[in-house]
Amino acid sequence: MPKGSMSVDASTGAEVPPDRRAGRGMAVIRPTRLLMWRGPGAREASAVVPRAVGVIESIGEGVERCWRGRRVAMPLCAPCAGCASCCGGIPDHCLSPRRLDVVSEGARAAEAVHAPVSALAVLPAQVDDDAGVFAWDVARVVHAAARLHLEGKPYVTVLGDNALGLLAAQVMSARNASVRCLGRRARFYSLCEKWGVKHRHLDEVGRRQDQDVVVECSGEATSLATATALVRVLGKIALLRAWSPEDATSASGAIEAIIRRELAVIGVSGGRLADGVAALAGGGVETASLVTRRFRGADVRQAIRAALDDEHLAVLVDLA
Ligand SMILES: [Zn+2]
Repeated sequence: MPKGSMSVDASTGAEVPPDRRAGRGMAVIRPTRLLMWRGPGAREASAVVPRAVGVIESIGEGVERCWRGRRVAMPLCAPCAGCASCCGGIPDHCLSPRRLDVVSEGARAAEAVHAPVSALAVLPAQVDDDAGVFAWDVARVVHAAARLHLEGKPYVTVLGDNALGLLAAQVMSARNASVRCLGRRARFYSLCEKWGVKHRHLDEVGRRQDQDVVVECSGEATSLATATALVRVLGKIALLRAWSPEDATSASGAIEAIIRRELAVIGVSGGRLADGVAALAGGGVETASLVTRRFRGADVRQAIRAALDDEHLAVLVDLA
């Protein structure tokens, strides 16, 4: 090791290697739990994007000491801190976000992840790691629910029985009892029963163009066309599904319907991680039922395979 590449931790006196050092405003986090569920995209790398929680091991300059040792939820991407959006005070819309590499190319869980503390959310005691890994997805759903003003709308449909769709159905039904979840896998959409949420098989419902709001979570190739067949004139479609740059599924007929019937289509890219944690801490979102398989250890290859399997809804990896 060349001289000068090691530094000393002021509180412990131990030498810190470069990959465990945090830069200004940054933290180094040791992941303790991973969540995986299948999103759109044919390739493994794009279809399964791990979400993670962990413990802050070291902090950089300008970070309050109280952050050290805290259990935190991590976002999928960190803002760059240098683009027009970041400098303009809207880092959530960073133009060059950096994906947090919680899993390596070789399917190994990272031992250390670098992220700005401003992008992290502390997990309170009542939100354990198993629930905390859902904070990113719950945050998106909470954000979407706020943007859609669901209260008082007679007909609201959530499309999709994946982990995201089931979280959306839970959160949105608390704001509007008419929310129903449509899916293709009875063993998953029937979980709605325990939360008091209406549910049906997608093929059993009429396409009557009568829904005020359709929240698309499924990511299926035909989902936008299905959403336009369900939504009323001047209705809203929210594209909440997990998005991937490789996903090009817009059917031209659906686009035409959006134009002709003046539908509002709302894209929902992210949310405030802290809002996701608060929703979990409030006890209004139940996540244990969404976990259908769990693994132990840093080699996450098997977990990715399970997450890609249609038999599984959400897969956890215990790293602690
Ligand atoms: Zn940026």
